[in-house]
Amino acid sequence: MKTDILIVGAGPAGLAAADSASASGAMIDIIDDNFTSGGQIWRGGAAVQQDPRARELWQKLSAKNNVRFHFKTRVVHAVSPRQVLIESAGTSSIIETEKMILATGARELLLPFPGWTLPGVMGAGGLQALSKNGFPVEGKRVIVAGSGPLLLAVAASLIARGAIVTHILEQAKLPQMARFALSLLATPGKLKQAWQLQKILREVKYFSDSYIRAALGVNQVTGVRAQINGREQLLECDYLACGYGLIPNIDLASSIACTLDEAGGYAKVRVDQWQHSSVAQVYSAGESTGIGGVDLALAEGAIAGWAATERHDMAEKLFAERRRWQAFGRRLATAFVLRPELQLLCAPDTLVCRCEDVSFAQLQAHDNWRSAKLHTRCGMGACQGRICGAASHVLFNWEKDAGRLPFSNASIASLCSLSAAEDTANH
Ligand SMILES: Cc1cc2nc3c(=O)[nH]c(=O)nc-3n(C[C@H](O)[C@H](O)[C@H](O)COP(=O)(O)OP(=O)(O)OC[C@H]3O[C@@H](n4cnc5c(N)ncnc54)[C@H](O)[C@@H]3O)c2cc1C
Repeated sequence: MKTDILIVGAGPAGLAAADSASASGAMIDIIDDNFTSGGQIWRGGAAVQQDPRARELWQKLSAKNNVRFHFKTRVVHAVSPRQVLIESAGTSSIIETEKMILATGARELLLPFPGWTLPGVMGAGGLQALSKNGFPVEGKRVIVAGSGPLLLAVAASLIARGAIVTHILEQAKLPQMARFALSLLATPGKLKQAWQLQKILREVKYFSDSYIRAALGVNQVTGVRAQINGREQLLECDYLACGYGLIPNIDLASSIACTLDEAGGYAKVRVDQWQHSSVAQVYSAGESTGIGGVDLALAEGAIAGWAATERHDMAEKLFAERRRWQAFGRRLATAFVLRPELQLLCAPDTLVCRCEDVSFAQLQAHDNWRSAKLHTRCGMGACQGRICGAASHVLFNWEKDAGRLPFSNASIASLCSLSAAEDTANH
């Protein structure tokens, strides 16, 4: 299959990129591994969201005959920046493209603590995503913990599905939180959103300066040991939803050797003012280039789409909007910086790599990721270090190696078709 512009990710950034790029008449193909558009924030489909920007984007894009969506489809390997291997329900194929826009979003940062592998302990965004897709939470007592404004959005969405959110535990300290709340005056839309969330969450006990020390239970989480404002407390729950903010998803970008930058402890795709990466004709937009929320993702996506179709005049008009939301992203990173105590929660037998059952004590015997990986198989399981690699960065300050290809689980049939394509390319 051939296309002019391949967009990976149909979240806000990918949809905005498709919208602006499609004005040129170029053929646009959008790949996303979810069953419909919307990415994380508009999970369930851009068409059915309350946010009018989501519905408008969807209506415009679905009416265009130069835009093709490929859902339940994943890019699993990049042969080159012009050729990627995609896989969907038992089939695979190679897409050849002139240009690519990476709008692959972010994933949650999960940190290990005793009991975090118990059934019923999930990422905050993880439980939100499951419940949005039908996982029943009605009548369940849920503690939401970790860091960042996502905790409030998660709690509100769980309550909307009938869960009883008893506590929200935010690790950031009150003065940081107060400064962040004040700074929302600069973004009235976010202030309104915060006010609406506050109304929904008025019955929930919210504590800053608080975090989970351990999840308790035998076969299932039944409670937690939490540090709340300096004191330890035992709390009961049916589910613990715990996530420490977001980190950019750079798997595809790093597999095609895009230069990465480090910001606030995580790697993100380096882009210039046109959202162009260090690799020719490869653009990146949205949370793969840094965490900043939906408004920044939309602005960056639109700029990438205009720039990829040589409409730099149109892209430039969005620079001020992007600057505004980049500033919001920086305030977010400062307010919710992780406290050092979170590095000290693991017991010697706490599993850090849960795919390969590698404990904290086993990792302590090493002084870098490569050594730990070679000796313990840490990061070599199904998730390929997506969870333990990020956790090891926080715990030990280790830099994870670039992922091996394919960077996502792929069927043997796909890999065979890939080697046939590579043979053809080489001859
Ligand atoms: C788990 C989670 C829950 C969140 N919930 C909220 C919320 O409730 N409220 C809120 O304000 N913000 C939420 N956010 C933040 C939100 O993601 C951003 O504000 C915004 O959606 C970023 O848009 P994006 O287009 O950059 O990325 P995303 O919306 O994340 O879209 C990226 C898309 O790319 C797809 N993708 C990635 N790699 C591949 C690949 N190799 N092949 C195919 N598809 C791929 C992903 O599946 C995803 O659909 C959440 C983030 C996460 C990680």
